[in-house]
Amino acid sequence: MSPSVFRCVQCDHRVFPARFLCPKCHGDEFEAQTCASGVVTELTRSAISGEEPSVYMLATVTSDAGPVLIARVLDEAVQRGDKVALALRDGGIYADPVRE
Ligand SMILES: [Zn+2]
Repeated sequence: MSPSVFRCVQCDHRVFPARFLCPKCHGDEFEAQTCASGVVTELTRSAISGEEPSVYMLATVTSDAGPVLIARVLDEAVQRGDKVALALRDGGIYADPVRE
């Protein structure tokens, strides 16, 4: 399953996450649109402290639909400029490498 971005019915502008009003035309009607892929523009390494400290990577992904999404990356080989597939898993968004 892929995450969704939201397309303004009035002006076609796409937003993520969902908003009450379109930032461009102030329209209030949106249509969910599946967003399956994008390109990594930034990578951030984050650390979780606690009983089991761990490090994970977050990618800033410019989706093919337009809006920028933040996704978790499990594959250490993913780099800036890579095309990734976006997937919804365990309530989060993940960016998986696309092998071409
Ligand atoms: Zn609009």
